Amino acid sequence: MQIMYRSTRDSQLRATASQAVLQGLAPDGGLYVPETIPSFDGSWEELSKMSYRETARRVMRLLLTDYTEDELQSCIDRAYDDKFDTEKIAPLREANGTEYLELFHGATIAFKDMALSILPHLMTTAAKKNRITDEIVILTATSGDTGKAAMAGFADVPGTKIIVFYPKDGVSVVQERQMVTQRGANVHVVGIHGNFDDAQTGVKNIFRDPDMNRKLKEHGMRFSSANSINIGRLVPQIVYYFYAYGQLVAEGRVKPGDVMNITVPTGNFGNILAAYYAKQMGLPVAKLICASNENKVLVDFFRTGAYDRNRDFILTSSPSMDILISSNLERLIYRIAGEDSSVTARLMKELSSDGVYCITEQMKEGLSDFYGNYATEEETAQEIKEVYLRSGYVIDTHTAVASKVCRKYREETGDPVPMVVASTASPYKFLRAVITAIDPAKAEGSDFDLIDVLRDISGVKIPLAIEDIRTAPVLHDCQVDPQDMEKEIGRWLGLD
Ligand SMILES: *Cc1c(COP(=O)(O)O)cnc(C)c1O
Repeated sequence: MQIMYRSTRDSQLRATASQAVLQGLAPDGGLYVPETIPSFDGSWEELSKMSYRETARRVMRLLLTDYTEDELQSCIDRAYDDKFDTEKIAPLREANGTEYLELFHGATIAFKDMALSILPHLMTTAAKKNRITDEIVILTATSGDTGKAAMAGFADVPGTKIIVFYPKDGVSVVQERQMVTQRGANVHVVGIHGNFDDAQTGVKNIFRDPDMNRKLKEHGMRFSSANSINIGRLVPQIVYYFYAYGQLVAEGRVKPGDVMNITVPTGNFGNILAAYYAKQMGLPVAKLICASNENKVLVDFFRTGAYDRNRDFILTSSPSMDILISSNLERLIYRIAGEDSSVTARLMKELSSDGVYCITEQMKEGLSDFYGNYATEEETAQEIKEVYLRSGYVIDTHTAVASKVCRKYREETGDPVPMVVASTASPYKFLRAVITAIDPAKAEGSDFDLIDVLRDISGVKIPLAIEDIRTAPVLHDCQVDPQDMEKEIGRWLGLD
C-alpha cells in the first residue's frame, strides 16, 4: 500500500514520503502527516527476535513506501553501524523496577542520533529519486542536541550544507563545546542572543520567506529541515518503541500481546509523537506519559485543553526540554480534530497571533491515551540521586524528569503495567547538574574536570564523543541577534 503525506493545514497539499522528507515543512507551514497509518505486519514473537536494523526495516518500509527495499536497506545499514557503541543500538536497562530505553549510544550521545544518523541518507536518496540537482541547505534550530547530531550526520555529505542556530546562553557547556568544535566544510554554527523559541520561530519564518527562497533558487539551492517536524526524523523514532517491546518479550518481562506504558521526557513533542504513532500501528501500548520540566505548557494543555505559551520561559537543568512551542503537537491536534485541516490551521493561527488556543471537549477525548505531569528542578535532582543510591545507575537530567514523572504517575494511579522510560541523553552530557545532584562536594572544577569524576561515580566508560571534545579545537564563534539570522544565512551562503 502506497502511503501519501498531506499538510496538517491543507489536505490538498500532498506529497510522497520522499518528497515530504526533502521539503521538511509543507509549503503552507503545516506539517506532513501520513494519510493513513499502516499496521505492523509481524507477530510479537517475530519482533522479539529481530535485530535493531531488521526492526527498522520492518517498521520504516510501512511508512516510507516510495523508497525501494534496497534504498531503505542501504540507508539503514549506513546509519545503524559502529557509530553506535553497542550492537543493540538502543539497549534496555532495568533499574528499580523501571526499564530505561537507552537512546544515547550514537555519535553525539543524545537520542537525536537515532533519527539524525539516518536522515541524511533518506534525504540524499530522496533527492536522487526526485531528480533534484539543487544543493540542499539544512536549516536547524536547536535546544542543544539536535544541532550537534544533525551536523554529525550531514558533515561533508556531498550536495548538502547545514546551518545550526542555538541559544547562546541556553545550552550546557558540553553541548556548546560539541557544536563549536564540529568539523566539515559544509557546516555553520551560530549562537543567537535569545532562547530556543526565538531560534525556532526565526528558522520557520526564513523557511517561508519568498525573497529568500527566490535567491536560493537563483543560486541552485533549496532549504530543508533536520528538525523533528521532518517526517524523516519522526519515522525512524517509531522504530525503537517496537524494538523496546521486542526486547521486553524476549526477556520474558511481558507476554506477547500484553501492554506496556511509555514515559517520554518531552520538548518539541517529537519523541512522544513517535510513540503515539507506534501505538496507532498496533504496538501494545496503554498509556503515553508526557513528562515536562518547569516549562510545563503541555501538562496544562492535557489538564485543561488550553495551550497557552504566554508565560515566562524558564532555563532549567534539562535545556533540551526548555520549549514553549512544541511544534509536533500540531500533528496530534490534527488527529484529534478528526483530520480536519481547517480546524488545525485555525488553531495554529491563533497560537501564532495570540499565543494561545483551546480545543473542544470532543477533541479532548482524543487525548485519553496521554497522561501529563512535570518535575521541578529540585525533584529532578532528587530523582537522579535516588535512582543512583538505589541501583547505582546514573541518569541524565532529562531522563530524570521522565523518571520522576513516571513515579508520580504510578503513585497516583497504582497502574502495575511495565514501564519503559525513554532515556534521552548520556549523563556525560550534563555533568555538573548530574554530579551536583549526587554529591555537591564533588562538583568542583571545570566541566572538563568533571568528566573523570562522573566516570568514578558511575563506573561507565567515558564515551568517545566526550573524549573527542576534550582536545578538539574551537572552529566556530559566530553570534547574532534573532532578527539578523536571515542576514547571516545570506552572508554565509554568498547569496548577496
Ligand atoms: C530533544 C530532546 C528531548 C525532547 O525531545 P522532543 O522530541 O523534542 O520532545 C529530550 N531529551 C533530550 C536529551 C533531547 O535532546
